[in-house]
Amino acid sequence: MSNDQSAPYVIYSTQTGEIGEHRHLRAIDFTGVPLSPADLIPLPEGTTLSMLPQRLAVGLNVADQRTAVSSTRGWALAGLLPIGYTRTHLPSYEKTPETAPLPFFGYTAIAGWHGRLYAAAIRTDSPTHWLPSAYDHHRLERLVRERLTAEPENRILQQHAHCALDYHCPTASNIFLRRWEGAIAVSPGCNARCVGCISKQDEDNLVSPQDRLRFVPTMQEVVDVAVTHLEHAPDAILSFGQGCEGEPLLQARLIEQAILQIRERTASGTLNINTNASNPRSLKRIYDAGLDSLRASTISARRETYDAYYRPIGYTFDDVKQSLIVAREAGVYSSINLLCFPGLIDCEDEIEALVAFLRETGVRLVQLRNLNIDPEVLLPRIPKPHGKPLGIRMLIDTLRREVPEVAIGNFSRPVQRASAHAQADAAPR
Ligand code: SF4
Repeated sequence: MSNDQSAPYVIYSTQTGEIGEHRHLRAIDFTGVPLSPADLIPLPEGTTLSMLPQRLAVGLNVADQRTAVSSTRGWALAGLLPIGYTRTHLPSYEKTPETAPLPFFGYTAIAGWHGRLYAAAIRTDSPTHWLPSAYDHHRLERLVRERLTAEPENRILQQHAHCALDYHCPTASNIFLRRWEGAIAVSPGCNARCVGCISKQDEDNLVSPQDRLRFVPTMQEVVDVAVTHLEHAPDAILSFGQGCEGEPLLQARLIEQAILQIRERTASGTLNINTNASNPRSLKRIYDAGLDSLRASTISARRETYDAYYRPIGYTFDDVKQSLIVAREAGVYSSINLLCFPGLIDCEDEIEALVAFLRETGVRLVQLRNLNIDPEVLLPRIPKPHGKPLGIRMLIDTLRREVPEVAIGNFSRPVQRASAHAQADAAPR
């Protein structure tokens, strides 16, 4: 029997959206494991609290029995962390029958402790440039209006105005705020069918949170937006490959030609591509055109897990590896966008494969990305992970020990191709 009043306890959302505490129920995670103080950090600034509809909050009672909070009191509550924090535990809940899947967000376990809110997370980068408080919506609205008035024909600006104002997308907003990492979407199509795609979902009961881009921009539209951003933005990064589009490599020719024209007009800033890295030949042409950095998306370094999640069309996991190896040979700064799902990527075999993959490909930076998905949508669609989960903290510690030359963070850095190696060393460890 445990009656440890100092243990983290269950937090839930009342029917009216207030935060409720159940101090006699120990907080647990999705797998039923009690959350200890060592798992928790004070709720980070910029965290959004998300009520989990039709899901009861659950915890352990004094007899260590799994116990649900009655729906008359309210529903389970989770946290959506700002970029800069990596989730270590998924939230616990009890689904009521006939419950619809949760929207595509990165749900994180939260708990109460000594009267304060805590999250099961670890700080893995500086969130400053990504906090909601860094985006003044009224100023953004004014700048969007002015820019669309000045360039009424540019459809990329119209697309990213929608993303900035309706989805609060930081990289789309930065195009109008003329700073940091800015977005350019170019591809309506994709050669993968990711289980957690946020811009296109085929299954009836799954709704993608963003509208997929519906046009291929012209060269001029791309170059105009890119040059303006690279020339005016502090710490400028211009990134092809955004959440609101398909796979940018399906427009490789456009990107290659655009980079050549952009670099004729400006040497400033970093040209980056976020991609599923499915085509090493097309990427080689883009590297040769002048790309500075690449971020390849993956959920695993094990083929069967990769294939189950990405459901690739016409390419293989070997193509992804080859794209990174060619990037290293070309001096392009490469990182992976590692989709983090506790209980998957932190399993023994997954960690072992990831270490080998990083050594083989020469990746310079691992960007940890909390995977935005309902756990009960993902788990039935991927093979059961091999080996027991060691925890996200152990994953990070293992990477730091086994591949110390690889940086760990949560977002891309400005890098200049010429001094990629010098610049890269400034990245976090
Ligand atoms: S690669 Fe991107 S656009 Fe394509 S299915 Fe996956 S998440 Fe969606």
